[in-house]
Amino acid sequence: MPLLNENYQNLEESYLFAEIARRVSKYEEAHPDQKIIRLGIGDVTKPLTKKVIEALHKAVEEQAVSETFRGYGPEKGYDFLRNAISAYYKKNGADVDPDTIFISDGAKSDTGNITDLFGKDNVVLVPDPVYPVYVDTNLMDGRKIVYMNGTAENDFLPMPDPSVKADLIYLCSPNNPTGACYSKEQLEKWVAYAKEMQAVILFDAAYEAFVSDPALPRSIFEIEGAKECAIEFCSLSKTAGFTGTRCSYTVIPKELVFPASNGAELSLHAMWNRRHSTKFNGTPYIVQRAAEAVFTEEGMAECMENIEYYRQNAKIIADVLRKKNISFTGGVNSPYIWFECPNGMESWEFFDYLLTHAQVVGTPGAGFGENGKNYFRLTAFGQHESTAEAMRRFEELF
Ligand code: PLP
Repeated sequence: MPLLNENYQNLEESYLFAEIARRVSKYEEAHPDQKIIRLGIGDVTKPLTKKVIEALHKAVEEQAVSETFRGYGPEKGYDFLRNAISAYYKKNGADVDPDTIFISDGAKSDTGNITDLFGKDNVVLVPDPVYPVYVDTNLMDGRKIVYMNGTAENDFLPMPDPSVKADLIYLCSPNNPTGACYSKEQLEKWVAYAKEMQAVILFDAAYEAFVSDPALPRSIFEIEGAKECAIEFCSLSKTAGFTGTRCSYTVIPKELVFPASNGAELSLHAMWNRRHSTKFNGTPYIVQRAAEAVFTEEGMAECMENIEYYRQNAKIIADVLRKKNISFTGGVNSPYIWFECPNGMESWEFFDYLLTHAQVVGTPGAGFGENGKNYFRLTAFGQHESTAEAMRRFEELF
């Protein structure tokens, strides 16, 4: 009989989006004639761009001919893509060596799997509210989590508390679910704190492409000294609509070296390389070619057009909230809009209220942590028409 990983018993019963789907389909079955508008899950609605599709087609044709066919690729990803990503970082003001970039199939996989590199006894600092993957993957391993409060008082941007000890620190900016973004000065404080603690920052930049304010950092590596204390995860899911195509990248600087209990010096870069090559056989060649197209001038311009489209949705949502005097964060440098549930409702109560009275689906803040229990998240990833219709119904309701 196998001994099981009993830490799984510490996880919540169902994943947030599964519970949302369950409630929505129950409502749909009972009201088949009503049109439900979904502004809940953070999935994109715009198709892949022209340049990306061209690159995919070309790569598919290459795979059809023995001279150009590619089998297993390099585990870290092809040089053509890693060089393109390094150049993209450079343009945005961060110096990232292509050799420190690992191509993968998703920021969800990598933010989850990175826990493989760390012992069970680390103290993990996680913001609340938070993208649930950071919490669940650490609970699966039986690690102790210390939460830092994101509240309206700190604009949902928790800052380091020198009296709290931490070994691993999860930061996500622009943030899911709150849409809040750390400033350069704030990230400098995090880097200083991490260095003081000899901790590692696990920085999730999945929404960096939504940053429109040039003063806001899009990468932790824009901060001096970050290479000595940070790993960054990024993804093409939201930048380029790759949620179903799957491609991401993780930067692990070679400066991240820590002593082991036997006195050896262990490099996180080398360890991840070992893990990646043991448990992963690479992102598909055709997908890496598609990703390469994203980083061309024309390809990025097409992606930014889509992002601009989503930004307009965010504006539609924000305008109605403003009109109703509901204060919110996000929506400017982020596709997410986060607000306190009206009339003192709790978030699941508000979810049901909005579903039954306006047939609009959002995401209850409780799914992101204790501090989200009176908050609600709407996303700008819908279509203009349905977003406008959802917000018309919202306006009428309040
Ligand atoms: N990180 C954050 C903060 C996210 O919100 C998401 C997806 O919603 C991901 C990572 C996952 O990205 P990917 O599609 O690359 O797995």
